[in-house]
Amino acid sequence: MPTPAPARFQRPITDVIADTPPGIVPFSVEFMPPRDDAAEARLWNAAVDFHDLGAAFVSVTYGAGGSSRERTLRVAKKLAQHPLTTLVHLTLVNHTTEELEQILQDYADAGLSNLLALRGDPPGADPLGPWEATEGGLEYASDLIELSKRFSASEHFQVGIASFPEGHFRCENLEQDTEMTLKKLRAGADFSITQMFFDVDYFLRLRDRLVEADPEHGAKPVIPGVMPITSIRSVKRQIELSGATLPEGLRRRLLRAEQLAAESGQDEVRKVGIEITTEMVERLIAEGVPDLHFMTMNFARATQEVLHNLGMAPAWGTELGHDALR
Ligand code: FAD
Repeated sequence: MPTPAPARFQRPITDVIADTPPGIVPFSVEFMPPRDDAAEARLWNAAVDFHDLGAAFVSVTYGAGGSSRERTLRVAKKLAQHPLTTLVHLTLVNHTTEELEQILQDYADAGLSNLLALRGDPPGADPLGPWEATEGGLEYASDLIELSKRFSASEHFQVGIASFPEGHFRCENLEQDTEMTLKKLRAGADFSITQMFFDVDYFLRLRDRLVEADPEHGAKPVIPGVMPITSIRSVKRQIELSGATLPEGLRRRLLRAEQLAAESGQDEVRKVGIEITTEMVERLIAEGVPDLHFMTMNFARATQEVLHNLGMAPAWGTELGHDALR
C-alpha cells in the first residue's frame, strides 16, 4: 500500500486552483528571493498585499539571475507558514544528485511539497550560452521529476514544470519542444507554468499542440505566466532573455506612449503597458485558463492595477486587510 503524504505537507497547487468558486479565476504570483534589506521589505509588503487580495498560491524562484539559493528556502518557509500555498522552484545548476536530494529533503521538512522542477540556465553573464551538466548531477528537468518521485522525502510532492509558448530556445522546432514538454508531464508533472509572452495566440497554440499530441498528459493545466508591462526597458529585456515575439501592434502602441511621455512628462508607457496586459489577461480568462500567474519582480502595484481593471481587486492605494504576515 502506498504511504500517505505527511500531514505537514501543503495542499497540491492543482487542488487549490480547482477549489476556486465558479466564476472566479484564481491568480498567483512569482517572487524572487531578495538580495538586500530594501528588497526584503518590498517582498514582505507585496506578500501581505497578495495574501489580502486572495492569491491562490505564490512561487519562489531558485538561483534565477544569481539570487542566493539559501534565501529561496528561507523565503518559501516564511511564506508557507503564514499561510500561503507556496510553490518552490529548484534547478539543476551546480548541484550533484546528492545535493538535490538534500534540498528536496529540506523542502519536505519544511512542508514545502509543491515543487517547480527546472533545469535552470548556465550561471554567469550569458544565460543563453552552452549548457553543461554538473558532474554527478542531472541533465534535464525530467530527471529532477523522476528523482523527486523516487526519493522518499519527496515522493508525494506535486510537481510543476516550465513550458514555452514559442518553444524553448534550445529546441530545433515546435514538434521537439512539444515532445520534451510531454516527456516532463509523462514523468509525473501535474501542471506547467509558461514563460511570459506578449502574444496570447502563442499560448493558445501551445495548449492545443500539447492536447493534440497527447490527449491524456497534454491536457494537464497550462498556467500562463503574465508579466505586467511597465517600461520599454523591461519589454526589451524579456525579448532578449526569452526571445518572446512582440506583436507589431503592441510595439507601435508602446512607442507612441514613449513619444507621448516625452511630451507630457507623464508615465504613459506604464499606463499603456497595464492596458495591454489587461487586454491580454481578459482574453486568457475568456479562453478558460486555470490560473493567472503574475511575474511580479516583488512589486505588487502593477499586478494589482491589472486585477483592478478586471474587477478582481480594489484600486491601488486602497487599504487592504493586512491581517496576516505582519
Ligand atoms: P528542460 O525541460 O530540461 O529543457 C531544457 C532543454 O532541453 C529544452 O530545449 C528541452 O526541449 C531539451 N530537452 C529536455 N529533455 C530532453 C531530452 N531528454 N533530450 C533532448 N533534449 C531535451 N530558471 C532559474 O534559474 N530559476 C528559476 O526559478 C526559474 N523559474 C522559471 C519559472 C518558469 C515559469 C519558467 C518558464 C522558467 C523558469 N526558469 C528559471 C528558466 C528555466 O530554467 C530555463 O528556461 C531553462 O532554459 C529551461 O528549463 P526547463 O526546466 O524547461 O529545462
